[in-house]
Amino acid sequence: MEDLNYPNARDCQHGQLRRQCPHCEYDRDMAEAHEKIDQLQRQNDELNLIKERYEKLIFAVENKHPDESRHETALRYIRQAENRGHQPCGAGKSERQSNGSNGE
Ligand SMILES: [Zn+2]
Repeated sequence: MEDLNYPNARDCQHGQLRRQCPHCEYDRDMAEAHEKIDQLQRQNDELNLIKERYEKLIFAVENKHPDESRHETALRYIRQAENRGHQPCGAGKSERQSNGSNGE
C-alpha cells in the first residue's frame, strides 16, 4: 500500500526522513546509551566479583608485616611458597658473588 501520508519519501514512523529525524536520532542515541549502560553494568558485576575474590585472598593474611601492605605480604607469601616448590634438586644454597668480573 502506498503511504499517502508521507508523500515526500518520508520513511520513519514520525513522518520524516529517517536520516534527518530528530526523534529517530534521539531514539538511536537512547538505544546506544542503554547498550552502554548494560555493558558498564556487566563490567561492574565482573569487577565486584573480582573485588570479592581479591578481598578474600587479602584477608587470608592474618599477620600483616608492619612494613608491607596486605597485598605485598600476600604476594611475598605466594612467591615464597612457589620458590620452595621450584628449588633445583640437590643444589645447595650458593649465593652468587656480586663483584664485577670484567676489570677495566
Ligand atoms: Zn523518526
